[in-house]
Amino acid sequence: MSGQRFVLASGNKGKLREFREILEPMGMQVVSQAEAGCALDVEETGETFEENAYLKASAVCAATGLPAVADDSGLCVKALDWGPGVHSARFGGGKAWTDQQKYEYLLEKLAGVTDREAKFVSCICCVFPDGSVLRARGECPGRILEAPAGSGGFGYDPVFCPDGYEGSFASLGEDVKNQISHRARALAGFAKELEGRC
Ligand code: IMP
Repeated sequence: MSGQRFVLASGNKGKLREFREILEPMGMQVVSQAEAGCALDVEETGETFEENAYLKASAVCAATGLPAVADDSGLCVKALDWGPGVHSARFGGGKAWTDQQKYEYLLEKLAGVTDREAKFVSCICCVFPDGSVLRARGECPGRILEAPAGSGGFGYDPVFCPDGYEGSFASLGEDVKNQISHRARALAGFAKELEGRC
């Protein structure tokens, strides 16, 4: 598995940073779509994280001829019927909104709600040029805070507190997040799958 090179099928800089921080110490190399000369912005038309991850990885693998790995992820909030889920990136005003506008909208929706249980979910899919596919899923349970805290991470990190901790992902720092996050768990599963394939 050491030396394996993957294109990350995403334009999300936060995801790219975390993929590199987690996979590079395992000896894998993660190349951005831009570095691979691939400008695709794949439409996420699937109804599940798994479907969307496959759509992104297969399109970027076909476009670049390189193994492509994708993460489809999101925040699932119990009081919102476990939404926004696969729609997390399009929550509220969609792509036109900043991350801050989206988490502030989430806090407004949860105003007065006492049961703030939530979880982050990440589904990883890797598609190889020979058509083979590896998949892995990770979840991180926690709750939505009453107010944002911290300046690290991305997306909904300032308002999500993982179980067993008091601070938000954005305030706990990358070292902690990269050990316990949904993405870290999914990528650990992916690394195992990859080992089994080699
Ligand atoms: P997608 O996987 O491109 O559909 O986007 C997932 C969206 O879920 C991101 O744009 C973020 O808003 C949110 N999200 C996924 N993972 C994280 C995370 O680790 N921290 C904060 N927000 C996240």
